[in-house]
Amino acid sequence: MRLPTPPVDRSDDRAQVVAWVREHLGHLASDDVRASSVRGGQSAADAALAALDVTGYAARRSNVLPESSRGASRLSPYIRHGLLTLPSVWEAVGDAPYRDREKFRDELMWQEYSRHLYARVGKANGAPLRFETPVPVPGSAGSTWSGDPWPREMACMDATVGELVEDGWLVNQTRMWLASQWAVRAGADWREGEQRMYRNLLDGSRAANRVGWQWAAGMGTGKVYGFSRWQVEKRAPQLCARCALRDACPVQDWPEAQSGAKVDGPADLGGGPTDGGPTEPLLTGEPEAVWLTAESLGTDDPALAAHPDLPAVFVFDEPLLAALALSGKRLVFLAEALAELGSSGELEVHLADPVAELSGRRLATTWTYVPGWKKRSAALDVVALHPWPWLRRPGSGSLRSFSAWADRSHAGGNRGRSGGSRGRSSQRAR
Ligand SMILES: Cc1cc2nc3c(=O)[nH]c(=O)nc-3n(C[C@H](O)[C@H](O)[C@H](O)COP(=O)(O)OP(=O)(O)OC[C@H]3O[C@@H](n4cnc5c(N)ncnc54)[C@H](O)[C@@H]3O)c2cc1C
Repeated sequence: MRLPTPPVDRSDDRAQVVAWVREHLGHLASDDVRASSVRGGQSAADAALAALDVTGYAARRSNVLPESSRGASRLSPYIRHGLLTLPSVWEAVGDAPYRDREKFRDELMWQEYSRHLYARVGKANGAPLRFETPVPVPGSAGSTWSGDPWPREMACMDATVGELVEDGWLVNQTRMWLASQWAVRAGADWREGEQRMYRNLLDGSRAANRVGWQWAAGMGTGKVYGFSRWQVEKRAPQLCARCALRDACPVQDWPEAQSGAKVDGPADLGGGPTDGGPTEPLLTGEPEAVWLTAESLGTDDPALAAHPDLPAVFVFDEPLLAALALSGKRLVFLAEALAELGSSGELEVHLADPVAELSGRRLATTWTYVPGWKKRSAALDVVALHPWPWLRRPGSGSLRSFSAWADRSHAGGNRGRSGGSRGRSSQRAR
């Protein structure tokens, strides 16, 4: 079904674009459709990048409350959907103080690493990579936890789950609290927690979300991240002060949990070819339209930039969205990006199965690292395939360790401190 192009809505309440999503996609949303405080669209992405100042980032990245103390950039929804590329964000912090710049770039490298991993092992990133799921020590709280793994009567869980559900975005620190509370302390199935987080995040990606959960729960390194009152007192002390359970805190002490047994994981984790897509445009015919995907919704999308006179087409994948049941906030974010693309050139928006909708058309598109895209594009007539803007082109080396991968990937002159924060061995490191 062809949909009208979403309206450009620069009002504060964004009522028009919310109404558009409710009318055309509301049946696919998991909640009442509303707008997040992070606005979608290229102008909002460009404004966020122009305002980016990472001074103090290294010290403040993990701050949670007060919000004014946070050092996080909130660029992730734009990066996730290709409105900002990793190379452009990397370049933007070139003049920042050394320590902040290196820390920030290290995090961009985590994003790139998760994409390389996804490009290499595909959906196998959803199964334990190197160690089984964590095991609560018998007799400890985790072995007897019952009820919601994210209990809202704890002020720290209430604030964090509330922000996830109401705004669709969290700082890295509270994502770790949630993952650890769910999988390590409550001993619940991490795949269900990962799904619940993914569904609500504006930046939800199978690449980064699964890496985040794998590392927090110890499946990536064999070292679990333990969540306890200590982090809350350090990062958001006002939460403990107002908590009804402050004198009977269920997370007062460190969780008693150990990582699971070693697993073989994906065979190619230790090395093997990675499909990184073409390095130059692959042209086998004359395209008639540019197929845009949720990975690349920026005005600088390589295929769009190469074929500015062709109509662009975006298909909301109805069967996929029905299965994912995403939050309406993500759909608003996507609609805002499309609205802007539609205001600067011809754009068709459809709600359909992309393969059924696009078959028979000669397409130009941008390669992406996502298995679902590979499957769909193989069934379509892609006659102009444009390269993905990698930060580091995937190689064939081991992806077992982020640090080792990052050391290999840092080109001369770009050497940053590697060994990303989640690789630390101590549960108390943060
Ligand atoms: C359990 C868990 C789940 C996560 N799920 C996602 C997800 O679905 N999508 C997602 O993009 N990120 C995810 N992350 C990574 C990280 O938390 C977010 O990218 C970051 O919090 C986004 O906020 P920001 O843009 O302010 O980040 P900043 O701290 O300002 O960092 C700048 C950019 O670097 C990248 N980045 C930063 N930290 C990480 C990281 N640890 N791993 C990968 N990339 C990083 C992001 O692209 C981010 O936008 C997850 C982390 C954990 C622990």
